Amino acid sequence: MKCNYCDKIFDNDDLILSHFHHLGENHYDVLTVDDKIMYDTRKKMIESKMKYESQKKIDGDSDLIFNSRNSKV
Ligand SMILES: [Zn+2]
Repeated sequence: MKCNYCDKIFDNDDLILSHFHHLGENHYDVLTVDDKIMYDTRKKMIESKMKYESQKKIDGDSDLIFNSRNSKV
């Protein structure tokens, strides 16, 4: 996967996340509207995932309820 805005190549396991951070740090000011929407959406997803992960540590086994509820979808 190559960056759309420079010649940097992403080939590690976490390339989506690496690319995401790279865009935010290096190209955020010049992102196209579509890319900016993608970036902001992904950022929200990552933030809510982090929030969920840290909440899970606090709540302990209450995530069992969350998982069983979601597995039906
Ligand atoms: Zn780049």
